[in-house]
Amino acid sequence: MTSLMNHQDPPHDQIFETPFEDPSEMQSEPLRRVQVLLITCVDFRLRSEVSAYMESRGLIGHYDEITLPGASLGVMNEVYPHWQKAFLEQFRLLKKIHHFDHVLFMDHRDCGMYKLVLGEDHLISREVEYSCHLSQMIAIKEHLFQHMPDLTFEGVIMELDGTVTSLLL
Ligand SMILES: [Zn+2]
Repeated sequence: MTSLMNHQDPPHDQIFETPFEDPSEMQSEPLRRVQVLLITCVDFRLRSEVSAYMESRGLIGHYDEITLPGASLGVMNEVYPHWQKAFLEQFRLLKKIHHFDHVLFMDHRDCGMYKLVLGEDHLISREVEYSCHLSQMIAIKEHLFQHMPDLTFEGVIMELDGTVTSLLL
């Protein structure tokens, strides 16, 4: 691996255009430190609510965000299994350069990706919908994060009015 990341302040476009096999091998000085990696759904209806929630926790300016359809379901599903590789590459890169120690998965109600993968039946009741999101969070924690003891994991679900309920700590 060449010395791209040895620069104290490399140009933004160089960081993201340079290919690498394993970001953990990069020799880097921390460019910046954030507290949290937030994983959210792309849903256009909730962008300002997501920001408002993070502001309510005092985290504006202190988190990275990966956004993909379905949030937790986008990270691990059978329709688009290759998304997981892309997620993990981005995850490792951001961990390397920004050193977050808390991972926050934020799903939301009435999610189009959940409908696509699980079908409309998962919306038969709020309780069933909730349990589907909870099961997904548990699966991700167990399969992807069980060997990362330096990270804390949190899962929440947002209502369409922006209210947030804890799923998993
Ligand atoms: Zn969604």
